[in-house]
Amino acid sequence: MAKKRTVVVVEDEDAIRRGIVDALHISGFETVEAADGITGLREARRSGVDLVLLDLLLPKMDGFDVLAELRVTHPVLPVIILTARGSEDDRVRGLRAGADDYVVKPFSARELLARIDAVLRRTPERPQPVVRITGGDIVVDCARREVIHGDRDRVPLSEMEAEILQRLAAHSGRVVSREELLACVWGLREGGVETRAIDMHITRLRQKLSGGSTEPLDWIVTVRGKGYMLGPGLQLTTEDAAAAPKSP
Ligand code: CA
Repeated sequence: MAKKRTVVVVEDEDAIRRGIVDALHISGFETVEAADGITGLREARRSGVDLVLLDLLLPKMDGFDVLAELRVTHPVLPVIILTARGSEDDRVRGLRAGADDYVVKPFSARELLARIDAVLRRTPERPQPVVRITGGDIVVDCARREVIHGDRDRVPLSEMEAEILQRLAAHSGRVVSREELLACVWGLREGGVETRAIDMHITRLRQKLSGGSTEPLDWIVTVRGKGYMLGPGLQLTTEDAAAAPKSP
């Protein structure tokens, strides 16, 4: 069975948001709700999101700003904006800002679902999230957020440590900057938190991964002045690959 797609619904009007969420559930989507722009941006940046429905007039951060911030870290994540009737400027501005499509309020569930299907159809498959990383006798279970050292102990990872590791794994082979990690992991705007905070989490992550081993595998490589990347020689298992052996 295909995995359920996840849609983040960013809409401050409760009745509209609930209506959209109900329609999506009936059609087999998973949903995440956000009633303001800042929460919406944070949720949209989490791993595993397939599409974002984005209202434009939102408390805390408006939809255009959310879209602009999101595009810095997620240039191809499908976004459909929800606009008020008659505001052609908004539609044009939204599309120029990188929205994939728009729906004009009030819209029917059928219309919305048709737009979502169309956008998802023309979106290349997103890379499968990495669920397990193996290096030597150390395994990281991303879903359970733990490091397993051989058959010895299990060390829990914090949500941030796990997100950092998954982000690096999703982009293995390239350097991920501190700013990108910060934006994705915290969902914060530039300047919100010192990028140095990332270094502290990386240090803790490395300690947990080495597990006191004298010759720890290089799980996370520091690229001076650029950021971090996942070390070579690690084996990545994606969601599909992990699920495959279970199917009859
Ligand atoms: Ca609104």
